[in-house]
Amino acid sequence: MKKTHKLVLWVLLLFTLLSAGCNSRPINSSPFTDPIGTPTAIPTKTPTPPPTETPVPSPTPVPTATPSPSPSPAPTVTPTPAPTATPVPMVTVIPEEKVIYLTFDDGPSIYTEDVLALLERYDIKATFFVCDTARSQLIAKIHEAGHTIGIHCQNHDYDVVYKSDEAYFKDLYAMRDIIYEQTGEYTTLVRFPGGSSNKVSSFNPGIMTRLTKQLEQLGYQYFDWNVSSGDTKTKDTAEIVAKLKKETKGLDYAIVLMHSEFKQYSFDAIEEYILWAFDNGYTFLPLSPTAPNAHHRINN
Ligand code: ZN
Repeated sequence: MKKTHKLVLWVLLLFTLLSAGCNSRPINSSPFTDPIGTPTAIPTKTPTPPPTETPVPSPTPVPTATPSPSPSPAPTVTPTPAPTATPVPMVTVIPEEKVIYLTFDDGPSIYTEDVLALLERYDIKATFFVCDTARSQLIAKIHEAGHTIGIHCQNHDYDVVYKSDEAYFKDLYAMRDIIYEQTGEYTTLVRFPGGSSNKVSSFNPGIMTRLTKQLEQLGYQYFDWNVSSGDTKTKDTAEIVAKLKKETKGLDYAIVLMHSEFKQYSFDAIEEYILWAFDNGYTFLPLSPTAPNAHHRINN
């Protein structure tokens, strides 16, 4: 190669190098690529969380001017409501005609509806001295049928009911309230468990003397009996009928104690006794606050 040619080549080379130095930006370089060439992450649109509902603070109520508290009246103690407004001893009215007062203790029972049907057949109204039994809801039905409801006891356990004067009245009021729930009426008629002459309460000396007085002072009337079916001592229906007739004969009024409410053999005696009573001029009445009460002699 000639020297001239070499020179031309060198000039060209130099020119090329010079022109390249004027354009330093690399080819394909992009304004969106960082100098290192790592792609910047495209900002993805992150969903903006829904605005949490910040409860709008309710306006605080403007305190109303409360009247200066007047002295609150002392709470009135409501006493256990007396069953009658006037605890005046009832005047006993002896009926002019011969009367039998059938009384059924210790129910309601599985026989109650049979007793009611039997009494209805003869158009007889009677008296039921009731307890808090598994069929207490029948008290309403007895009442609706026009019979008298009296308080016997909630708990027939003598040791419980005669444990103290307080225990007796607690039981009495409990049974009174059960009857009220069923009938809407407060009855004032009572029959003591075991009767007022009972000796089963003798473990608490004098309690029957105290209770009989207190009951009457409170406006209640307690009823014993002057004819006993004896159905707690015999299971013989004929024997019960015979005893009923024998004890009723000669009486102007008979308050008849029966437990037919829960004894089949006693229940079976009722109809024969009713027929005998009609034949002997008796009528049947339910007890009332003014009915004769046939009080027994108090033994305790
Ligand atoms: Zn009883």
